[in-house]
Amino acid sequence: MTKNLLSLVFATNNQHKLKEVQHALGDRVELVTLNAVGITEDIPEDFETLQENALQKARYVYSKTGLNCFADDTGLEVEALNWEPGVFSARYAGEAKNPKDNIRKLLDNLKGVENRRARFRTVIALILNGQEYLFEGVVWGKIIDQERGSDGFGYDPIFVPDGFTQTFAEMPLELKNQISHRGRAVEELRKFLKGRL
Ligand code: IMP
Repeated sequence: MTKNLLSLVFATNNQHKLKEVQHALGDRVELVTLNAVGITEDIPEDFETLQENALQKARYVYSKTGLNCFADDTGLEVEALNWEPGVFSARYAGEAKNPKDNIRKLLDNLKGVENRRARFRTVIALILNGQEYLFEGVVWGKIIDQERGSDGFGYDPIFVPDGFTQTFAEMPLELKNQISHRGRAVEELRKFLKGRL
């Protein structure tokens, strides 16, 4: 008996993300990149919520290709900063999207601030057979005042998830993926797709 295989365009060209998500979804889902379907332009992300941006990206891919697809959007939300940088996480310190500059700006803004509560949140928007679905993953933690660790990316060196002493940048990737915002959102997507394969 042949297994069903579901092909999904993932609205990313980030090979690191693609590998991580493909691993989590298993071999009955085949992820296809934007490049593979001929989308080489930057997809607009014009909104002020993760949900709207994820939907906008998925709808863009669907309108260009008519294929089943999904998009994700992630933000770091810091309580003492009124939940900023949020949707602006990538370009917090400017359009150069430099992670070191972003970390510096965040730590500057939190100088002397006692409340270090923060969470990463990922929203995934899926379009399957023309229907839209949303999935979310959250991990709570705190922002420390100095970078630690060299793995990971983005704000990983200053984020310590609840229940752990290491930053995301000090953890093995397997562990980060199990507990992270993106890992949790992808797990929701996996469970949903499992019922349809
Ligand atoms: P994106 O929506 O996945 O592109 O994420 C937007 C921004 O959030 C990234 O550019 C990073 O600054 C930050 N970010 C997303 N995921 C992570 C993560 O797992 N660790 C650290 N920072 C992240």
